[in-house]
Amino acid sequence: VALIGLREARSLVFDACPTIEAAHLTLRDALGSVLAEAVLAVDSVPPFDNSAMDGYALRSADTASPPVRLRVAGTTFAGDDEAEFLAPGTSERVMTGAPIPSGADAVCMVELTRQTAPDEVEISVALQTGEQVRRAGEDVATGEVCFPPGTELSPAHIGVLVSAGVTAVLAVPKPRVGVLSTGDELVPEGAPLVRGKIRDSNRPALLTRLSEDGFIPVDLGTSSDDVAALARAIEAGARFCDAVITIGGVSVGEHDFLADALVKLGADPAASLQMAIRPAKPFAFGVLPEARAPIFGLPGNPVSALVSYELIVRPALRSMSGHEKVDRPVLSAVVPDGISRSPDGKTHFVRVRLHRRENGRVEVAPVARQGSHQLRGLADAEALAIVRDGSGIVAGGLVDVIVLRDDALAPERDAQWLP
Ligand code: AMP
Ligand code: MG
Repeated sequence: VALIGLREARSLVFDACPTIEAAHLTLRDALGSVLAEAVLAVDSVPPFDNSAMDGYALRSADTASPPVRLRVAGTTFAGDDEAEFLAPGTSERVMTGAPIPSGADAVCMVELTRQTAPDEVEISVALQTGEQVRRAGEDVATGEVCFPPGTELSPAHIGVLVSAGVTAVLAVPKPRVGVLSTGDELVPEGAPLVRGKIRDSNRPALLTRLSEDGFIPVDLGTSSDDVAALARAIEAGARFCDAVITIGGVSVGEHDFLADALVKLGADPAASLQMAIRPAKPFAFGVLPEARAPIFGLPGNPVSALVSYELIVRPALRSMSGHEKVDRPVLSAVVPDGISRSPDGKTHFVRVRLHRRENGRVEVAPVARQGSHQLRGLADAEALAIVRDGSGIVAGGLVDVIVLRDDALAPERDAQWLP
């Protein structure tokens, strides 16, 4: 089979993946989801003019020639109803968040005042109209579009929607993604090993990876190396999942049955790919006719499984979920010691750690254990360096890296940036 590029493999997969239908979601369920339509504010935020400070609400015109003394009409706390109309020459003591009485147009912070009598205050500065007043609708106005379609909802978005009186949104639900491992050599986690067997580590690694990435993992267990059993397990999983990931059985070994199972299930397309990358060369993909669920066939080698998840499956699932950005951050970094390799027609994804130097430049160093069976190497890594076909990166050369961990570039504790 001819090797195809990762770009080509991805477009084959992305084009065949159905998009997930939007649904009305509660705000809790919508965290991390993408809005399918604009959300309009039910209520204004803030809902009424209120004080930004503890101080005195007043008419700014009264403070034109400070200091001035104003009568204090009363006190309004946060949560109180608005005080009565504020007459010229008077003020209202207000706490942060308290409604501003009509007539008042500014608040003088308490630090710039002096109480001169039980019901009198001296204002030491001239105030501008609107000073220290949070206007109704300043953040969001009733009927206004809070967020356009395509917005990925973060905790701050959820907060805005709650304030604006929105209780549900039309957004793309998180996909339910089944994980099925295959192989007669596998025993479940925690089970004792007998000779010839290994623990099924890929299934828990992928299930936890999926939940960290904001998808809903569904454990489909293990299938034996048998075409009929494999096909049955895939079909059963696809019935209640939006997508199914299988692990193993996509190479050219005598017990590599995934392609056969996809054909048996009438998958269309049904593709067995050999990609020009290392690790993770073999990859199978199919879409089941009835369930319309994509099946992603990952190779069994633990590093290959997680790398092809990163390069193809995660972006495909994000695309299905309506995300505009489907890939992790990629940045250019220096390789102080270089990375050597030989030409073999493939792009290598080298597991590296990142170091941010004082001058802001990012350096990478490969981790020990680069074998595709050595998952510990990937566990130690923070990024994948994209080393294109050729003889590698010279010492001091640049390489693009895919950043796998949010904290990979985080500064040291008590670093320079702290104010
Ligand atoms: P395969 O892709 O099925 O040829 O498997 C390639 C290698 O990965 C073999 O050494 C398998 O034993 C190993 N492997 C397959 N599935 C898993 C799994 N779920 N967990 C750990 N290793 C696996
Ligand atoms: Mg196998």
